[in-house]
Amino acid sequence: MNYVMHICRNPICNQGWLDKDLTNVKTNPPSWKYCRKCAEKLGIDYDAQTPTSNLTEKELKERERKIALSKKATEARLKKLNLRP
Ligand SMILES: [Zn+2]
Repeated sequence: MNYVMHICRNPICNQGWLDKDLTNVKTNPPSWKYCRKCAEKLGIDYDAQTPTSNLTEKELKERERKIALSKKATEARLKKLNLRP
């Protein structure tokens, strides 16, 4: 398990800490998790947070849309490869 720098999901908190890398982050620090303090304030179980557990319905839909898009792009790319002689 890798550890990466996380940034609190609360934009006015800005707390950063080292935590497990659950999303295989390559560039920006992930911000899907609330820090322990904010989670407590919000009544969220800090340890039960997942990359999608804090997302609003709108964000979840957007995420699904992006996943579907990248899937489509991958399929198209594979199809193209298969057509080569
Ligand atoms: Zn915080």
